[in-house]
Amino acid sequence: MSASERLVLGIDIGGTNMRFALVDGKQNMTAFERLSTQSVFVGVEHPTQKLAECIRDYCARHLDGKMPLAVSIGFPSTINRDRTIVVQTPNIACIPDNYAVVEELGNALGIPVYINRDVNDLLLFDLVDLGLTDCDCVAGIYFGTGIGNAVLVNGKIMLGRNGVAAELGHLPVYGNKKICKCGNMSCLETVVSGVALEQIQADHFPETSIKKIFADHLDSNIIKEFVEGMGQAVATEVNLFDPDCVVLGGGLLQMEGFPRELLETAIHRYARKPYPEANLDIRYSRPNQANGTVGAAIYAYKRMADPKYL
Ligand SMILES: [Zn+2]
Repeated sequence: MSASERLVLGIDIGGTNMRFALVDGKQNMTAFERLSTQSVFVGVEHPTQKLAECIRDYCARHLDGKMPLAVSIGFPSTINRDRTIVVQTPNIACIPDNYAVVEELGNALGIPVYINRDVNDLLLFDLVDLGLTDCDCVAGIYFGTGIGNAVLVNGKIMLGRNGVAAELGHLPVYGNKKICKCGNMSCLETVVSGVALEQIQADHFPETSIKKIFADHLDSNIIKEFVEGMGQAVATEVNLFDPDCVVLGGGLLQMEGFPRELLETAIHRYARKPYPEANLDIRYSRPNQANGTVGAAIYAYKRMADPKYL
């Protein structure tokens, strides 16, 4: 069997870059590359053809032009339950709504194409990376531009009726009148997210770079309250699911001076007593820009092993 027949191409699509990597069935990753998301989706008449071209070029560089077993793509989007259509991508305007990527790209490449919510792929990666694959219930919460959320229940990532379960960032918060990118008013991520933190920086600390905001202003009430809000978000999920553990990740937690202790104190403050608070197990995702590509490949291997798996 040749190398290409045993490898999945994992792709993780972000606002700036698409990350590509080849991954085998044991999560070994090679040929990591970043390509511009805009170059495929902005002002391009046929994004599928352009994406197929990028994939063929990548395979020419790394697989002697052969095709991988499958292509698996994580989108920062809502995706239909059957995992065939990218429904909506509020943070990346250039990705079309109701984009039938599985059919279109599958036809263009002649190999299976799988798609998933990027945070579901991230949680699939973290379950392996943190040794949690035997857990029954795990909540993954990723604080980035918005709030990414995925929940494992009964050993399977929860999809919901329409495939859009686990949208912690869009829980309505009483009294919050801000309008969210999703179109609704009051969403949690209008007040607790990277976007909300940038607004705090612009309004209160215009002299400080956003990167230094925790390092330089942790003594300010507004930053303490923001971290308290993150803790409330996590506690909300913990109180709903009573998970075996909660995995925390995302860019905000990687920022210089991010106060993990303060966050954990807030989570414990708002977690229900005595349980789930008493034995709450908090883990941290190990940041690496390739995590999403490996997670996408893990998802593809699950789909290939079990035709019923979604
Ligand atoms: Zn929203």
